[in-house]
Amino acid sequence: MKCMKCGKEAFYSTTTEAIELGFGVLVIRNIPCYKCEECDEIFYTGDVVKKIEIITEKVKNLMQEFTVVDFEKAAA
Ligand SMILES: [Zn+2]
Repeated sequence: MKCMKCGKEAFYSTTTEAIELGFGVLVIRNIPCYKCEECDEIFYTGDVVKKIEIITEKVKNLMQEFTVVDFEKAAA
């Protein structure tokens, strides 16, 4: 996978993302991603982006001011 920013090689990794939802912050851990070794840019495949949206929708109604979920568990 090539980096969308600089075109160098990006490698499979996992990351943590904090999403601000206005009334609270949702933190998703262990998100599969690709990370560029050159510029540290992180990007997701379309499938992962979709799952993040699903997780956000799912957790939104239940969440408190600060909620942490695990990507694999929350997407299942
Ligand atoms: Zn890059």
